[in-house]
Amino acid sequence: MNAFLPFTRPSIDEETIAGVAEVLRSGWITSGPQVKTFESKLSEYFGGRPVRAFNSGTCTMEIALRIAGIGAGDEVITTPLSWVATSNVILEVGARPVFVDIDPVTRNIDLDRIEDAITPKTRAIIPVDLAGLPVDRDRLYTIADKHKLRVIEDAAQSLGSRWKDRRIGSFGDLVSFSFHPNKNLTTIEGGCLVLNTDAEAKLAEQYRLQGVVRTGFDGMDVEVLGGKFNLTDVAARVGLGQLQHLESFNAKRLALAQTYFERLQKPVERELGAWLPVLDFQQSNWHMFQVVLPEPRMKVRRAAIMEQLNAAGIGSGVHYPPIHLFSLYRKQGWKPGDFPHAEYVGRNILTLPLFPQMTLADLSRVCETFIAILRANCHQ
Ligand SMILES: *Cc1c(COP(=O)(O)O)cnc(C)c1O
Repeated sequence: MNAFLPFTRPSIDEETIAGVAEVLRSGWITSGPQVKTFESKLSEYFGGRPVRAFNSGTCTMEIALRIAGIGAGDEVITTPLSWVATSNVILEVGARPVFVDIDPVTRNIDLDRIEDAITPKTRAIIPVDLAGLPVDRDRLYTIADKHKLRVIEDAAQSLGSRWKDRRIGSFGDLVSFSFHPNKNLTTIEGGCLVLNTDAEAKLAEQYRLQGVVRTGFDGMDVEVLGGKFNLTDVAARVGLGQLQHLESFNAKRLALAQTYFERLQKPVERELGAWLPVLDFQQSNWHMFQVVLPEPRMKVRRAAIMEQLNAAGIGSGVHYPPIHLFSLYRKQGWKPGDFPHAEYVGRNILTLPLFPQMTLADLSRVCETFIAILRANCHQ
């Protein structure tokens, strides 16, 4: 019997574990020199733009909204198919999310529909690069510039992805990344925000820690209402260890994704009518490999497929149920039928295992098992 294969798992090397032990023994474990070093390495990675680190990839977006001055009475355009953090932060600052349906091919916000959703109250767009596949940045910024909107890129999943050879985060407006354990780089919990100017970075530091500004030996003032969002040095040390492997992690993901296509295109896509991801081997960081199950042909629902995979020792995931159908959002007026593409994909999308330490033998086992389960549960 094979060991259970999760849909993802972090890779932490021994050098990083030893480095963490060193930080723990150093006498300084919360935000300090490791965070500073981590931020400067990230800044290098993003072509020299200002970067600040935080304790999640959620607060990064909330802070980005605050830096952009967005609050009560404002509207922010985003996708209904994302981790709920993407729109929760809009509510958190007192603004209103305006969802725009996805393009079922890319599974990202449908750029053709954005302009229809713009009103005089619209202040920003939050696009999401689902599974690491970048939203078309040329079209996105053309729309944003034309309507004078800020862009807060939710790039939580697209660290190392590119748009036409430019790294996501190395250009654009405010760009937010998450370092949750499921992401391509982890600090256990954490995230970072790429900013435009040193003034924005200063403001980010204030929002990160109670709004505090210190001067001289004993000066302290509070100018804005900040929270408690600082990253610890222990977490930053994990991130520094991870950063050295990011390119090789992503290369491994790409190779596995290519093999998934080779194995699944004929039996799953052509023969059973499931949808595979967009075949993007130049730009995506392959954060996830997601199949949209062929609902019209299925004798069972997705949960039964997941249960059978689980019984065969294979983990799978759902990323994501559409946000507008959660109770909190329904109470504010959204309802089934509002965004048909996001609803269909949200009902049928399934994340298969993909992570750097996964072997070709693991992948073969996933494909054989998945094909057999799908064949048994579909009308041919
Ligand atoms: C992970 C994720 C977030 C939030 O990141 P946390 O670090 O868990 O707060 C936001 N948006 C998307 C699309 C994500 O995948």
